Amino acid sequence: MPFDQSLSPALLNWWQAHGRHDIPWKLSSQGVLPESGEELNPYSIWVAEVMLQQTQLQVVLPYWQRWMERFPMLQSLAAADEQEVLLVWQGLGYYSRARRLHQGAQQLVERDDSFWPRDLESWLALPGIGPSTAGSILSSAFDLPFPILDGNVKRVLSRLIASPQPPARITKALWQLSSELLDSEQPRSFNQALMDLGATVCTPKSPSCPQCPWSDQCAAYASGDPVAYPVKEAPRELPFQVIGVGVVLNDAGEVLIDQRLNEGLLGGLWEFPGGKQEPGEAIEVTICRELQEELAIEVQVGEELISLDHAYSHKRLRFVVHLCQWRTGEPQPLASQQVRWVKPQQLSDFPFPAANARIIAALLARLHPEEGTDAA
Ligand code: SF4
Repeated sequence: MPFDQSLSPALLNWWQAHGRHDIPWKLSSQGVLPESGEELNPYSIWVAEVMLQQTQLQVVLPYWQRWMERFPMLQSLAAADEQEVLLVWQGLGYYSRARRLHQGAQQLVERDDSFWPRDLESWLALPGIGPSTAGSILSSAFDLPFPILDGNVKRVLSRLIASPQPPARITKALWQLSSELLDSEQPRSFNQALMDLGATVCTPKSPSCPQCPWSDQCAAYASGDPVAYPVKEAPRELPFQVIGVGVVLNDAGEVLIDQRLNEGLLGGLWEFPGGKQEPGEAIEVTICRELQEELAIEVQVGEELISLDHAYSHKRLRFVVHLCQWRTGEPQPLASQQVRWVKPQQLSDFPFPAANARIIAALLARLHPEEGTDAA
């Protein structure tokens, strides 16, 4: 390793003065930073680490608090209904994380509820836990010397060595570097300091290099253009797809929703039925076809309710949503877990993907619930 031994003490000294010392799951039951070797609650750290996998700390904080109030212990999460788990998670996105957390809690309780794993393999065997999350839990909860490599750490280390390759192509080397730099005497503090450095100093667009404890050994800073690192992959055009969606109402003023299968990004959530527009197809035809194929119903497609764009990391979608009047056919869950007719006011009782919140708001604004009529 081309670095001298001063990196760890420099980072830890910086952290003592400038680190984030108010993260609730990193504090002892007395509300202070734990002593070296003192154990923290692994359950609350696990929940936080899974929430943080795709989401920033400031966004996670209120969700974590709400979650811990509703499911304060491993056993309460394991015993919860999955729909309730998804409702408490609602708004954080990437719902598969909530389902896996729930499944992991059930696995741990089935195994032995007094047992918390202290080895990497046992944590990796739980659903939704990768090496960085496992390392972070083990070092945070038990002060054990396991390295981490989350997005912030990848950026800091890639800059430290001014890697000419994007992080995804040098993952092994970055893991090795994270492991070699780790202070085995104070792994919890070191890993937290590394994460804090990435979050507050070595930020993506404007790193504060003069304030950085590693500036004298950082190759990216020495290059004069630290923002050029990490080197990025060549951008690729995201695929674009139009989705025709039917908000189907029956004569009783109820609206039809279906629950997605459990696979994929939005698995288990509820939605308004619809599907992809075929090339050259009118959107009204798409909606009729999809509702026939997926629910075995005939509808009359009415006016457009709303159109909205939503970008995922791997694709861009445009939802074109029309009000529809149900005509014939008992709805069947041919491509979903179940279908239901519900009163529009009951929609908030079901977990929906974030993009659907605007559809629901548009529907409620359009309808006149007190009269039980619709605008189709
Ligand atoms: S010197 Fe600058 S680029 Fe290098 S690690 Fe510190 S903040 Fe990041």
